Amino acid sequence: MAGTARVTPPTYDDLIRHAARRFKDAGLSEAYQNAVLLMVHAFGDTRAVLISAGNAPVPKAVEDLYLAAVERRAAREPIQHILGVTQFYGLDIRTDARALIPRIDSECVVEAALDRMPKNTPLVLADLGTGSGCLLAALLSQRPLARGEGVEASAEAASLARENLDALNLAARGAVFDGSWTQWQGWENADLIISNPPYIASAEIAVLEPEVRAHDPLSALDGGADGLDAYREIIALAAARMKPGAWLVFEIGHDQKAALEWLMAQTGFEAIASGQDLGGNDRWVGA
Ligand code: GLN
Repeated sequence: MAGTARVTPPTYDDLIRHAARRFKDAGLSEAYQNAVLLMVHAFGDTRAVLISAGNAPVPKAVEDLYLAAVERRAAREPIQHILGVTQFYGLDIRTDARALIPRIDSECVVEAALDRMPKNTPLVLADLGTGSGCLLAALLSQRPLARGEGVEASAEAASLARENLDALNLAARGAVFDGSWTQWQGWENADLIISNPPYIASAEIAVLEPEVRAHDPLSALDGGADGLDAYREIIALAAARMKPGAWLVFEIGHDQKAALEWLMAQTGFEAIASGQDLGGNDRWVGA
């Protein structure tokens, strides 16, 4: 590069060390892991190949790409937005600012739903507030005869959900409805409805990690004064319109089990069950 004094280019390990220090100073908990993950991304090959290249000089283009990514992460942008992808229930799910990042905690909600979905049956599913589409995609990928609809009021999130269903070859069985669950007309047809609605109490948004507070869409987090607004709406609609014997399975916050069981029992739901995620937190309620 003419004019640029770059006598000894840094090695991959140099840059990773630099980034790990930068992340530590920025208060990130997994500083070194983040530094490595971003380098694997900039490097464009596997971690195994990167390890063997540790002492090699880094091409300027890769260095520039890496340092730009490092600055984004140091400013507390979630790593999933920078990488553009995350793994959920064994699937690669595209992630960006359009929708909530899929959380590993939600995998147990998929499990709970699958336990209520007999194999080899042409079930009709719905995912209310589908966001990235991760719950719907996981269910459809596990039940090849099922079809389903993701309901999404945010046009941005709906476009991301469509991209994910397309990329996973699930678009023939998985559609996205643009609109709210109040506008949606599919209640009567569904055999199982899953939902991870916004459930954080409004006053608690301010104390969330910056990655969540400033980068996940507020509409995917804010559940109103007590965090239960979306559940109340969905439960009322479901009680009035779902067919007998159909299942409603919710992701919940760790301290919302009793409230959800009460709301569902009070509205006439039966066979109320609940379960925890692998971290030991109450994470789903179904009925
Ligand atoms: N589980 C998310 C969080 O802890 C919240 C998702 C939601 O409100 N549905 O940030």
